[in-house]
Amino acid sequence: MVKFLDLNKQYLSIKSEIDDAIASVIESSAFVGGKFGKQFEQDFASYIGAEYCVGVGNGTDALELAIEALDLPPKSEIIVPGNSFIATSEAVTRSGHSVVFADVEEDTYNLSTETIKAKHTGKTAAVIVVHLYGHPCEMVSIMELASELGLRVIEDCAQAVGAKCHGRSIGTFGDVATFSFYPGKNLGAYGDAGSLVTNDEALAARARKIANHGRVDKYDHDIEGRNSRLDGIQAAILSTKLRHLETWTERRIHVAKSYRRALKGVEGIVVPQCCDWARHVYHLFVIRVAEPKSLAAQLKEKGIASGIHYPTALPKLLAYKYLGQAEDDMFVNRSDVELLSLPMGDHLEDREVQQVVEAVMEYFR
Ligand SMILES: *Cc1c(COP(=O)(O)O)cnc(C)c1O
Repeated sequence: MVKFLDLNKQYLSIKSEIDDAIASVIESSAFVGGKFGKQFEQDFASYIGAEYCVGVGNGTDALELAIEALDLPPKSEIIVPGNSFIATSEAVTRSGHSVVFADVEEDTYNLSTETIKAKHTGKTAAVIVVHLYGHPCEMVSIMELASELGLRVIEDCAQAVGAKCHGRSIGTFGDVATFSFYPGKNLGAYGDAGSLVTNDEALAARARKIANHGRVDKYDHDIEGRNSRLDGIQAAILSTKLRHLETWTERRIHVAKSYRRALKGVEGIVVPQCCDWARHVYHLFVIRVAEPKSLAAQLKEKGIASGIHYPTALPKLLAYKYLGQAEDDMFVNRSDVELLSLPMGDHLEDREVQQVVEAVMEYFR
């Protein structure tokens, strides 16, 4: 059996640290906000190299709060990539704005200045770049374009904690960046959790206020907000796991190197690109093949898990039929572009990586 993800194995490797962290939250009753939340916010801001971190309930809320805290004109157009998880676009609509899907580059599956420009109109107020699968977007050129066009930039870093663009951590380029600590992400909590980071003090304060009932004081509210806070147990778990993140990320990079070396020359497979300016953190290792479902079935027979991210491009989902972008001439809408995610994570042993490689090669022989 080669698992796609093995959270229990990771837990067992740091069990006593995690158990102690959880116990200290329970013993101090600091369940919501409190010292563990504050500690994690400091730890995480310093890991990313950003001034402020606000811990929130999950990565989707982080996106919504980031958009709301930017105070864009009502019903603004916000550009998002057509290949992402629905949370990215959902947050746009839920905060009262209009989704505009843009195409992604064929090599990195990410937005670029060209694809953003192609969808820019007079109503575009912002762009949400997604560092998809763990590969960073090229943020230097994107920030230049944004400043030319007067666009605000949100970085959706849900899949890319620790990724770098020209040596600088993602999440430090845009106006604000959001992270998901969903259990399956590279830095995963033991439940839902998320955060946003920014160097803009006022924006951080606004987001924190909205996420905490618009509160100035316990029963003093400036505005109506909502409840999306990071809970103490998740914060303590995340601070503990953050200390191991670099080791786990290096393991992912090592696994990716092995896959790449073995599969690069195989006819019928396109291995994922890693640009020379990028630190790719391989949330997923996504290959392009003609018939991913048939390869997945053969892998499954050999006890190897795999996944498809994402089976349907966002513009083609029923949820976005109203936009009429399903037929747009975009790479994301092409039906012959077929992706398959191989097992990836710090749980993989070298012999398991070898097993995956052999099974994939056998399929193509
Ligand atoms: C996981 C994910 C999110 C949402 O995070 P949750 O914590 O599950 O709400 C947003 N964007 C992308 C690209 C994701 O992969």
